[in-house]
Amino acid sequence: MNVTEYFGTNVFNDEVMKNTLPREVYTSLRRTIDEGQPLDTSIASAVANAMKDWAASKGATHYTHWFQPLTDLTAEKHDSFVTPSGDRAILLLTGKNLIVGEPDASSFPSDGMRKTSAARGYTAWDPTSPAFVKEGTLYIPTVFISYTGETLDKKAPLLKSVTALDLQAKRLLKLFGIECRKVSTTVGPEQEYFLIDEEVYAKRKDLILTGRTLFGASPSRGQEMEDHYFGALKTRVSEYMRDLDETLWSYGIYAKSEHNEVAPAQHELAPVFTTTNIAVDNNQLTMELMKKVAKRHGLVCLLHEKPFEGVNGSGKHNNWSLSTDTGLNLLDPGETPEDNPRFMLILACVIAAVDKYQGILRASVASAGNDHRLGADEAPPAIISVYLGDQLGPLVDSIVLGREYVPKKPVPGSIGVPESPIFPIDATDRNRTSPFAFTGNKFEFRMLGSQASVADPNIILNTIAAQAFSEAADELSGAADFKRACAEYTAKLLKEHYRIIFNYNGYGPDWEPEAVRRGLLDNKTTADAVPEFFKRENIDVFVRQGVYTEKEVVARANIALTNYVKTIRIEALTLSEMMRQDVYPAVNRYIAELCDVIAKKKSVGAAFAADLALASKLSQLNEAMADALKKLEGDLAETPAELSASSQKMAHVIVPDMDAVRRLSDSMEKLCSSKYWPFPTYADILYSVK
Ligand code: ADP
Ligand code: MG
Repeated sequence: MNVTEYFGTNVFNDEVMKNTLPREVYTSLRRTIDEGQPLDTSIASAVANAMKDWAASKGATHYTHWFQPLTDLTAEKHDSFVTPSGDRAILLLTGKNLIVGEPDASSFPSDGMRKTSAARGYTAWDPTSPAFVKEGTLYIPTVFISYTGETLDKKAPLLKSVTALDLQAKRLLKLFGIECRKVSTTVGPEQEYFLIDEEVYAKRKDLILTGRTLFGASPSRGQEMEDHYFGALKTRVSEYMRDLDETLWSYGIYAKSEHNEVAPAQHELAPVFTTTNIAVDNNQLTMELMKKVAKRHGLVCLLHEKPFEGVNGSGKHNNWSLSTDTGLNLLDPGETPEDNPRFMLILACVIAAVDKYQGILRASVASAGNDHRLGADEAPPAIISVYLGDQLGPLVDSIVLGREYVPKKPVPGSIGVPESPIFPIDATDRNRTSPFAFTGNKFEFRMLGSQASVADPNIILNTIAAQAFSEAADELSGAADFKRACAEYTAKLLKEHYRIIFNYNGYGPDWEPEAVRRGLLDNKTTADAVPEFFKRENIDVFVRQGVYTEKEVVARANIALTNYVKTIRIEALTLSEMMRQDVYPAVNRYIAELCDVIAKKKSVGAAFAADLALASKLSQLNEAMADALKKLEGDLAETPAELSASSQKMAHVIVPDMDAVRRLSDSMEKLCSSKYWPFPTYADILYSVK
């Protein structure tokens, strides 16, 4: 079948709605979707019925409210359409079934917002994200709230942040004489991942239980040849990508390009951007399907941020922009940004917001897995800064420093081959080292971890931008001389927040001390980053923009810390088990064999110095490893109960303890006979897909 025929066939999209819904119902529903008008509940029955008929025609027998609890995964509870009717059964989805669900909320994280005595939680239909059919079930995207109304998921606050941004951006645009119905944020998350063979995966308990290898010596061939990036795809990988593309297309997800990444076995998938709410739902579905499709090919898709030490980890690039329903991209500078006060004001607001709320922006991407990336040489550092490029950089410099601005003309570039066309070289080069880079007509937030939900950072981006816009609108509305007031306010913001701008190499050794000098935050671990949410000014921004109540912010931060503590604990226990049960005895077996060899060689007068040296070295290392393990286990047993103390202990005691064990194990792996080494090595895993 042709792509154009099956694209979106599993989605209850606009075309299906138009064809199956009565006209008034369709118009009313569109008003809700396009303009955020409250849902007219009287149309629910008609929509439910059309959805059910459509889903049944695709073979669906069940439906589920699909939601995003405070884990990084989605949740679902399936119910059948089948309803008794006399002696027969009919398929039924009522308006109420569509609009509300009541899953038992007690097994999802809520940090006490939901008492077990009132376990009930509600899911409520989100008509702005289309329903779809997957594996015989109709999936209805929903928000998830507690009996007492607190949000228990990521979608509700995301939608609130989108609404806040829409409201404040429209206020700001009005000052420039621009009227529009809606300002939306758009997001295109580029997703990195590893593909390995399921057979090697099955032999690594650490991959199975924690998603990453907890030890493993560097392979003799890593990424130093720099031959994997954009390299030719292996047949199995290209078959996987083809299958994945087709699957994603059937769900209406525009997976656009797929290529090899820097590390061996690493790849990337980039979707075409769409509005934030749908982009988040699509990314959740994409991650799930990436894993499922891999299974069909005898592969395992690893979404962990750092499955292997010594090779690049996986992140997600959150491309973020703002546009009106009339098609105006608010982050498009145009040819001459110096003559575009609207763009400059919006840019200044975003810069100010990122500086002021750098703590929570960093915290929104904090996780045990991502701690391994941020600050290593592959991902932007844990310090937030903004990169503007060589067009806007000098313009902002000139405003702040009061210098004359000499616009950089785009140079017509030629690739030196006479037949190839002249093309203008982009004014914004790709600075891959910046956590928050301006890339032409959008910002690219690059600190996200590969397995995290993209909802979290987008909730923050939308909220802090809304706050900055509202302050600008308050300041400028009623100004006697708007043009002048606007230029002055823009310059004031840029001056106040100039420290966040950094247009150079973020991986360089000079940046960290320089950032500290500028007073920028450098929270390297989740335990240190997340408490930013408890600061008064950070709680206030959520409350002011109507995104979270104070209780909700605190609960979310506590849940993030709890998840962190649990993750590190599971890793520590898994490491200790693998070392005790497998590595330690395996090394001993090899030492015993060496001792046998030594005794035999000795009896015939052959030289055995090398064997003796090796046996001694391995004995020493294995002893040291056992000691390190004892320390790890002892420290783990004494973890305090209080959350802040336990997360600090995990970050600053348990993680270094695990590291010490690993170093010793990795040294032994290099010396141990492969006959005895009990686990697949990095080379076995990274080159497992032929
Ligand atoms: P690269 O980052 O490799 O230079 P592109 O600039 O083509 O590649 O885009 C990367 C990602 O940015 C894609 O997922 C794309 O959909 C997304 N993107 C492009 N324009 C926007 C926009 N206005 N808003 C949000 N995302 C966008
Ligand atoms: Mg990118």
